[in-house]
Amino acid sequence: MKILYSKIVIIIFCIFSSIHIKAQSTVNLTNCLPYSSDRSGNTPCGNPNSSELKILRINVHYFLRNNGTGNFTETGDNNGGTLTGYDFSRDVLEWINGHAAWNSTQNIPAMNTIPTPPKNYQYVLDAVYFHRDNSHFNFNFSSSTYNTYKENPDHVMQVLLTDVQGQTSVAGYASSLGHTSTTKYTKLANVYSQYVAHAQNPNAEYGWTMHSVGGSFQHELGHLLGLSHTVRYNNGPPCPYSPSCDDGCNDTVSAYDMLNTYNATHHPACGWNQGNQPGCSNNVMDYAGANALSPCQIDIIHCGLGGGLKQYRVCDAVINDKTICHFGYPQIAYYGNKVTIEACGNNPTPTLHDNEQANIYFSNEVEFHGGFEVRGEATFEVFHVAACPS
Ligand SMILES: [Zn+2]
Repeated sequence: MKILYSKIVIIIFCIFSSIHIKAQSTVNLTNCLPYSSDRSGNTPCGNPNSSELKILRINVHYFLRNNGTGNFTETGDNNGGTLTGYDFSRDVLEWINGHAAWNSTQNIPAMNTIPTPPKNYQYVLDAVYFHRDNSHFNFNFSSSTYNTYKENPDHVMQVLLTDVQGQTSVAGYASSLGHTSTTKYTKLANVYSQYVAHAQNPNAEYGWTMHSVGGSFQHELGHLLGLSHTVRYNNGPPCPYSPSCDDGCNDTVSAYDMLNTYNATHHPACGWNQGNQPGCSNNVMDYAGANALSPCQIDIIHCGLGGGLKQYRVCDAVINDKTICHFGYPQIAYYGNKVTIEACGNNPTPTLHDNEQANIYFSNEVEFHGGFEVRGEATFEVFHVAACPS
Protein backbone atom coordinates (compact mmCIF):
# COMPACT_ATOMS: atom_id res chain seq x y z
CA MET A 1 0.00 0.00 0.00
CA LYS A 2 1.23 3.49 -0.76
CA ILE A 3 -0.30 6.59 0.74
CA LEU A 4 0.65 10.09 -0.30
CA TYR A 5 -0.85 12.98 1.60
CA SER A 6 -0.40 16.63 0.81
CA LYS A 7 -2.08 17.95 3.91
CA ILE A 8 -4.59 16.02 5.92
CA VAL A 9 -5.60 16.88 9.41
CA ILE A 10 -7.03 14.21 11.64
CA ILE A 11 -8.87 15.64 14.60
CA ILE A 12 -10.34 12.75 16.54
CA PHE A 13 -9.96 9.08 15.77
CA CYS A 14 -10.65 7.31 18.98
CA ILE A 15 -9.69 3.66 19.34
CA PHE A 16 -9.14 3.26 23.05
CA SER A 17 -12.67 3.41 24.32
CA SER A 18 -13.41 3.24 28.01
CA ILE A 19 -14.39 -0.03 29.52
CA HIS A 20 -17.72 -0.15 31.34
CA ILE A 21 -17.40 0.51 35.01
CA LYS A 22 -19.18 -1.38 37.72
CA ALA A 23 -19.99 0.15 41.09
CA GLN A 24 -16.97 1.22 43.08
CA SER A 25 -15.92 -1.31 45.65
CA THR A 26 -16.28 -0.46 49.29
CA VAL A 27 -13.12 -2.26 50.37
CA ASN A 28 -11.18 -0.50 53.09
CA LEU A 29 -8.06 0.92 51.47
CA THR A 30 -6.13 1.47 54.66
CA ASN A 31 -3.76 -1.32 53.82
CA CYS A 32 -3.05 0.19 50.42
CA LEU A 33 -1.92 3.55 51.73
CA PRO A 34 1.81 2.78 51.89
CA TYR A 35 1.70 2.49 48.10
CA SER A 36 -0.41 5.56 47.58
CA SER A 37 2.18 8.28 47.27
CA ASP A 38 3.54 10.43 44.52
CA ARG A 39 7.21 10.73 43.64
CA SER A 40 7.82 12.95 46.63
CA GLY A 41 6.82 9.91 48.65
CA ASN A 42 4.51 11.70 51.03
CA THR A 43 1.21 12.50 49.33
CA PRO A 44 -1.34 9.75 49.76
CA CYS A 45 -3.55 9.51 46.71
CA GLY A 46 -6.55 8.70 48.87
CA ASN A 47 -9.20 7.39 46.52
CA PRO A 48 -7.52 6.38 43.27
CA ASN A 49 -9.53 6.96 40.13
CA SER A 50 -9.74 3.30 39.17
CA SER A 51 -12.59 3.98 36.75
CA GLU A 52 -10.23 5.88 34.43
CA LEU A 53 -8.58 3.80 31.72
CA LYS A 54 -4.80 4.13 32.11
CA ILE A 55 -2.42 3.12 29.34
CA LEU A 56 1.27 2.61 29.97
CA ARG A 57 4.33 2.17 27.80
CA ILE A 58 6.50 -0.94 27.74
CA ASN A 59 9.30 -2.01 25.44
CA VAL A 60 10.79 -5.44 24.74
CA HIS A 61 14.49 -6.34 24.55
CA TYR A 62 15.58 -9.64 22.99
CA PHE A 63 19.00 -10.91 24.05
CA LEU A 64 20.87 -13.12 21.58
CA ARG A 65 24.32 -14.70 21.62
CA ASN A 66 27.12 -12.89 19.81
CA ASN A 67 26.64 -15.26 16.88
CA GLY A 68 23.00 -14.24 16.51
CA THR A 69 21.43 -17.43 17.90
CA GLY A 70 19.23 -17.97 20.93
CA ASN A 71 16.28 -15.66 20.41
CA PHE A 72 13.93 -14.07 17.93
CA THR A 73 15.50 -11.75 15.35
CA GLU A 74 14.38 -8.77 13.31
CA THR A 75 13.46 -11.08 10.42
CA GLY A 76 12.41 -14.45 11.82
CA ASP A 77 12.19 -16.84 14.74
CA ASN A 78 15.73 -18.26 14.41
CA ASN A 79 14.08 -21.67 14.21
CA GLY A 80 13.18 -21.84 10.54
CA GLY A 81 10.02 -19.76 10.88
CA THR A 82 9.08 -16.29 9.74
CA LEU A 83 7.64 -14.99 13.03
CA THR A 84 9.86 -12.03 13.92
CA GLY A 85 10.62 -10.59 17.35
CA TYR A 86 8.38 -7.67 16.44
CA ASP A 87 5.54 -10.06 15.59
CA PHE A 88 6.00 -12.03 18.80
CA SER A 89 6.06 -8.85 20.92
CA ARG A 90 2.85 -7.66 19.28
CA ASP A 91 1.21 -11.03 19.93
CA VAL A 92 2.17 -10.96 23.61
CA LEU A 93 0.94 -7.37 23.94
CA GLU A 94 -2.36 -8.38 22.40
CA TRP A 95 -2.61 -11.27 24.88
CA ILE A 96 -1.87 -9.18 27.98
CA ASN A 97 -4.16 -6.37 26.85
CA GLY A 98 -6.89 -8.92 26.25
CA HIS A 99 -6.46 -10.27 29.76
CA ALA A 100 -6.26 -6.79 31.30
CA ALA A 101 -9.64 -6.09 29.70
CA TRP A 102 -11.50 -8.63 31.86
CA ASN A 103 -11.38 -9.85 35.42
CA SER A 104 -12.20 -13.11 37.17
CA THR A 105 -13.97 -13.62 40.46
CA GLN A 106 -11.41 -14.74 43.00
CA ASN A 107 -11.55 -18.48 43.55
CA ILE A 108 -10.75 -18.23 47.28
CA PRO A 109 -12.30 -18.15 49.76
CA ALA A 110 -15.10 -20.31 48.38
CA MET A 111 -18.40 -18.55 47.66
CA ASN A 112 -16.89 -15.11 48.41
CA THR A 113 -18.78 -11.94 47.49
CA ILE A 114 -15.72 -9.77 46.86
CA PRO A 115 -16.47 -7.49 43.86
CA THR A 116 -14.80 -8.08 40.51
CA PRO A 117 -14.34 -4.59 39.09
CA PRO A 118 -12.76 -3.92 35.68
CA LYS A 119 -9.00 -3.47 35.74
CA ASN A 120 -8.98 -0.45 33.44
CA TYR A 121 -5.37 -0.52 32.36
CA GLN A 122 -3.73 -1.36 29.05
CA TYR A 123 -0.25 -1.44 27.55
CA VAL A 124 1.31 0.14 24.48
CA LEU A 125 4.33 -1.42 22.77
CA ASP A 126 6.80 1.46 22.61
CA ALA A 127 9.75 -0.17 20.82
CA VAL A 128 11.49 -3.52 20.28
CA TYR A 129 15.26 -4.01 20.58
CA PHE A 130 17.66 -6.83 19.68
CA HIS A 131 21.02 -7.17 21.45
CA ARG A 132 23.72 -9.63 20.36
CA ASP A 133 25.81 -9.88 23.49
CA ASN A 134 27.01 -13.08 25.17
CA SER A 135 27.61 -11.27 28.44
CA HIS A 136 23.89 -10.53 28.83
CA PHE A 137 22.39 -13.57 27.11
CA ASN A 138 21.94 -15.65 30.27
CA PHE A 139 19.42 -14.81 32.96
CA ASN A 140 20.75 -13.48 36.25
CA PHE A 141 19.51 -11.15 38.95
CA SER A 142 22.09 -8.45 38.20
CA SER A 143 20.89 -4.99 37.20
CA SER A 144 23.76 -4.66 34.76
CA THR A 145 21.71 -5.82 31.75
CA TYR A 146 19.13 -3.14 32.50
CA ASN A 147 21.79 -0.51 33.13
CA THR A 148 23.56 -1.34 29.87
CA TYR A 149 20.55 -1.48 27.56
CA LYS A 150 17.70 0.53 29.11
CA GLU A 151 15.92 2.88 26.69
CA ASN A 152 13.97 5.89 27.92
CA PRO A 153 13.62 4.26 31.36
CA ASP A 154 11.88 7.19 33.03
CA HIS A 155 8.93 6.84 30.66
CA VAL A 156 8.93 3.24 29.45
CA MET A 157 8.96 0.05 31.53
CA GLN A 158 11.54 -2.39 30.16
CA VAL A 159 10.97 -6.10 29.47
CA LEU A 160 14.26 -8.01 29.08
CA LEU A 161 14.08 -11.48 27.52
CA THR A 162 17.05 -13.68 28.47
CA ASP A 163 17.56 -17.41 28.85
CA VAL A 164 18.78 -20.19 31.11
CA GLN A 165 20.72 -23.00 29.46
CA GLY A 166 18.67 -26.17 29.15
CA GLN A 167 15.43 -24.85 30.61
CA THR A 168 12.11 -24.13 28.94
CA SER A 169 9.94 -22.92 31.84
CA VAL A 170 9.32 -19.21 31.79
CA ALA A 171 10.47 -17.48 34.97
CA GLY A 172 10.81 -13.85 35.85
CA TYR A 173 12.13 -11.16 38.12
CA ALA A 174 10.72 -7.67 38.69
CA SER A 175 12.94 -4.79 39.78
CA SER A 176 10.70 -2.91 42.20
CA LEU A 177 7.20 -2.59 43.59
CA GLY A 178 7.55 1.04 44.64
CA HIS A 179 5.42 3.76 43.17
CA THR A 180 8.24 6.28 43.51
CA SER A 181 10.88 4.22 41.69
CA THR A 182 12.08 4.97 38.17
CA THR A 183 13.86 1.62 37.97
CA LYS A 184 11.10 -0.39 36.35
CA TYR A 185 12.14 -3.49 34.50
CA THR A 186 11.40 -7.18 34.45
CA LYS A 187 13.86 -9.80 33.33
CA LEU A 188 12.20 -12.93 32.02
CA ALA A 189 13.96 -16.23 31.37
CA ASN A 190 13.26 -18.89 28.75
CA VAL A 191 10.53 -17.17 26.76
CA TYR A 192 12.30 -18.12 23.54
CA SER A 193 13.19 -21.64 24.72
CA GLN A 194 9.54 -22.21 25.59
CA TYR A 195 8.49 -20.97 22.15
CA VAL A 196 10.96 -23.35 20.46
CA ALA A 197 9.91 -26.28 22.67
CA HIS A 198 6.28 -25.73 21.69
CA ALA A 199 7.20 -25.26 18.03
CA GLN A 200 8.93 -28.65 18.09
CA ASN A 201 5.99 -30.38 19.77
CA PRO A 202 3.44 -31.39 17.12
CA ASN A 203 0.69 -31.35 19.74
CA ALA A 204 1.48 -27.89 21.09
CA GLU A 205 -0.33 -24.79 19.95
CA TYR A 206 0.94 -21.22 19.72
CA GLY A 207 -1.77 -20.34 22.25
CA TRP A 208 0.11 -22.38 24.86
CA THR A 209 3.14 -20.17 24.35
CA MET A 210 1.01 -17.06 24.61
CA HIS A 211 -0.57 -18.31 27.83
CA SER A 212 2.71 -19.03 29.58
CA VAL A 213 4.54 -15.98 28.22
CA GLY A 214 1.58 -13.60 28.49
CA GLY A 215 0.76 -14.87 31.98
CA SER A 216 4.35 -14.25 33.03
CA PHE A 217 4.39 -10.77 31.46
CA GLN A 218 1.24 -9.68 33.25
CA HIS A 219 2.40 -11.13 36.57
CA GLU A 220 5.81 -9.39 36.45
CA LEU A 221 4.26 -6.13 35.24
CA GLY A 222 1.85 -6.47 38.18
CA HIS A 223 4.87 -6.34 40.48
CA LEU A 224 6.19 -3.23 38.71
CA LEU A 225 2.80 -1.61 39.29
CA GLY A 226 3.02 -2.28 43.02
CA LEU A 227 1.52 -5.72 43.63
CA SER A 228 2.89 -8.49 45.82
CA HIS A 229 2.12 -12.21 45.69
CA THR A 230 -1.03 -12.97 47.66
CA VAL A 231 -0.25 -16.43 49.09
CA ARG A 232 3.52 -16.58 48.55
CA TYR A 233 6.54 -14.65 49.67
CA ASN A 234 7.61 -12.26 46.94
CA ASN A 235 10.71 -14.36 46.30
CA GLY A 236 8.45 -17.33 45.53
CA PRO A 237 7.98 -19.88 48.35
CA PRO A 238 4.40 -20.45 49.54
CA CYS A 239 3.55 -18.44 52.63
CA PRO A 240 3.69 -20.27 55.94
CA TYR A 241 0.41 -20.25 57.86
CA SER A 242 1.36 -16.96 59.51
CA PRO A 243 -0.47 -13.62 59.46
CA SER A 244 2.82 -11.86 58.73
CA CYS A 245 2.99 -13.30 55.19
CA ASP A 246 0.45 -11.08 53.43
CA ASP A 247 0.25 -8.79 50.41
CA GLY A 248 -1.25 -5.79 52.23
CA CYS A 249 -4.71 -6.13 50.70
CA ASN A 250 -7.57 -7.20 52.94
CA ASP A 251 -9.64 -8.50 50.01
CA THR A 252 -7.08 -11.11 48.92
CA VAL A 253 -7.27 -13.95 51.36
CA SER A 254 -3.97 -15.09 52.92
CA ALA A 255 -2.80 -18.64 53.46
CA TYR A 256 -3.17 -17.98 57.19
CA ASP A 257 -6.82 -16.96 56.76
CA MET A 258 -7.53 -19.93 54.51
CA LEU A 259 -6.37 -22.29 57.25
CA ASN A 260 -7.73 -20.49 60.30
CA THR A 261 -10.93 -18.86 59.02
CA TYR A 262 -11.95 -21.02 56.09
CA ASN A 263 -10.71 -24.42 57.31
CA ALA A 264 -8.67 -25.10 54.17
CA THR A 265 -7.46 -28.62 53.71
CA HIS A 266 -4.52 -27.63 51.54
CA HIS A 267 -2.33 -24.60 50.82
CA PRO A 268 -3.85 -22.14 48.27
CA ALA A 269 -0.59 -21.82 46.26
CA CYS A 270 -1.38 -24.73 43.96
CA GLY A 271 0.75 -23.86 40.95
CA TRP A 272 0.41 -23.44 37.19
CA ASN A 273 -3.04 -23.98 35.67
CA GLN A 274 -4.48 -25.01 39.07
CA GLY A 275 -6.29 -21.74 39.76
CA ASN A 276 -9.70 -23.22 38.99
CA GLN A 277 -9.34 -26.01 41.57
CA PRO A 278 -11.26 -25.64 44.86
CA GLY A 279 -9.16 -23.90 47.49
CA CYS A 280 -6.52 -22.74 44.98
CA SER A 281 -5.65 -19.11 44.29
CA ASN A 282 -6.45 -17.85 40.79
CA ASN A 283 -4.92 -14.45 41.43
CA VAL A 284 -2.69 -12.89 38.75
CA MET A 285 -0.12 -12.43 41.50
CA ASP A 286 0.27 -16.12 42.23
CA TYR A 287 1.74 -18.71 39.92
CA ALA A 288 -1.44 -20.17 38.48
CA GLY A 289 -1.40 -18.28 35.17
CA ALA A 290 -4.91 -17.08 36.04
CA ASN A 291 -6.52 -13.68 35.71
CA ALA A 292 -8.16 -12.46 38.96
CA LEU A 293 -7.31 -9.14 40.60
CA SER A 294 -9.07 -7.83 43.71
CA PRO A 295 -10.49 -4.31 44.08
CA CYS A 296 -7.61 -3.39 46.41
CA GLN A 297 -5.03 -4.69 43.93
CA ILE A 298 -6.65 -2.69 41.13
CA ASP A 299 -6.68 0.39 43.34
CA ILE A 300 -2.97 -0.06 44.11
CA ILE A 301 -2.25 -0.13 40.37
CA HIS A 302 -4.32 3.00 39.82
CA CYS A 303 -2.73 4.73 42.81
CA GLY A 304 0.63 4.20 41.20
CA LEU A 305 -0.41 5.17 37.68
CA GLY A 306 -2.25 8.21 39.01
CA GLY A 307 0.74 9.25 41.12
CA GLY A 308 4.41 8.41 40.97
CA LEU A 309 4.14 6.17 37.92
CA LYS A 310 2.18 8.69 35.88
CA GLN A 311 5.18 9.38 33.66
CA TYR A 312 4.93 5.86 32.25
CA ARG A 313 1.49 6.60 30.83
CA VAL A 314 0.68 7.48 27.24
CA CYS A 315 -1.41 10.42 28.47
CA ASP A 316 1.78 11.95 29.90
CA ALA A 317 3.53 11.63 26.52
CA VAL A 318 0.86 13.49 24.53
CA ILE A 319 1.19 16.85 26.28
CA ASN A 320 3.85 18.45 24.06
CA ASP A 321 3.80 18.87 20.27
CA LYS A 322 5.91 16.46 18.24
CA THR A 323 7.34 16.64 14.73
CA ILE A 324 8.25 13.31 13.13
CA CYS A 325 10.49 13.19 10.08
CA HIS A 326 11.67 9.61 10.41
CA PHE A 327 9.66 6.46 11.09
CA GLY A 328 10.90 2.95 11.54
CA TYR A 329 12.11 0.22 13.83
CA PRO A 330 13.06 -0.12 16.60
CA GLN A 331 10.49 2.56 17.48
CA ILE A 332 6.83 1.60 17.08
CA ALA A 333 4.89 4.21 19.10
CA TYR A 334 5.05 7.99 18.63
CA TYR A 335 3.36 10.56 20.85
CA GLY A 336 2.34 14.20 20.89
CA ASN A 337 -0.34 16.80 21.50
CA LYS A 338 -0.18 18.01 17.89
CA VAL A 339 1.79 15.51 15.83
CA THR A 340 3.25 16.82 12.58
CA ILE A 341 4.63 14.38 10.02
CA GLU A 342 6.93 15.96 7.47
CA ALA A 343 10.29 15.73 5.76
CA CYS A 344 12.79 17.80 7.71
CA GLY A 345 16.43 18.76 7.33
CA ASN A 346 18.13 16.49 4.83
CA ASN A 347 15.80 13.61 5.59
CA PRO A 348 13.79 12.22 2.68
CA THR A 349 10.03 11.71 2.81
CA PRO A 350 9.09 9.78 5.97
CA THR A 351 8.54 6.18 4.88
CA LEU A 352 7.42 2.95 6.46
CA HIS A 353 8.38 -0.23 4.63
CA ASP A 354 8.50 -4.04 4.81
CA ASN A 355 6.51 -5.11 7.87
CA GLU A 356 7.23 -1.98 9.91
CA GLN A 357 4.56 -0.61 12.18
CA ALA A 358 4.03 2.92 13.41
CA ASN A 359 1.33 3.91 15.88
CA ILE A 360 0.68 7.57 16.55
CA TYR A 361 -0.85 8.57 19.90
CA PHE A 362 -2.09 12.15 19.92
CA SER A 363 -4.24 14.31 22.17
CA ASN A 364 -5.13 17.11 19.77
CA GLU A 365 -4.39 16.59 16.07
CA VAL A 366 -2.21 14.88 13.51
CA GLU A 367 -1.05 16.87 10.51
CA PHE A 368 0.73 15.64 7.38
CA HIS A 369 2.96 18.09 5.50
CA GLY A 370 4.19 16.93 2.14
CA GLY A 371 4.71 13.28 1.32
CA PHE A 372 4.42 10.31 3.62
CA GLU A 373 4.66 6.74 2.35
CA VAL A 374 3.51 3.39 3.69
CA ARG A 375 4.94 0.57 1.57
CA GLY A 376 4.77 -3.21 1.45
CA GLU A 377 3.21 -4.85 4.50
CA ALA A 378 3.83 -1.85 6.77
CA THR A 379 1.00 -0.56 8.95
CA PHE A 380 0.26 2.91 10.24
CA GLU A 381 -2.41 3.64 12.83
CA VAL A 382 -3.50 6.73 14.67
CA PHE A 383 -5.01 6.71 18.17
CA HIS A 384 -6.52 9.51 20.19
CA VAL A 385 -5.58 9.55 23.87
CA ALA A 386 -6.52 12.49 26.07
CA ALA A 387 -3.66 14.18 27.91
CA CYS A 388 -3.29 13.25 31.59
CA PRO A 389 -5.43 15.28 33.94
CA SER A 390 -3.12 17.76 35.67
ZN1 LIG B 1 6.07 -12.75 41.21
